[in-house]
Amino acid sequence: MPDQWEKNLACATDCRTCGSKLDNNDQRILSVYTHEPICMNCKREEEKNADYSDQSKAMMSQCLKDTGKPYGDPEGYCFHHFCPYKC
Ligand SMILES: [Zn+2]
Repeated sequence: MPDQWEKNLACATDCRTCGSKLDNNDQRILSVYTHEPICMNCKREEEKNADYSDQSKAMMSQCLKDTGKPYGDPEGYCFHHFCPYKC
């Protein structure tokens, strides 16, 4: 994984789902469905989906394959599907 994704994701200026503005100091988190940065409200909505936990598991194994890092490693992007972060 190149470093570029990190910049693109970390410093997104709006939520990719609802389009609300994200300031540098606003927390954002990655969608397990699209891997795009979304706001915390959208994350709460996402978590209500019936297939959310299945999708999370699928994402984690894909992520492990792609990055070679366990999802709990803050260096890997998988981490940010569960841990909010700022720009
Ligand atoms: Zn949103």
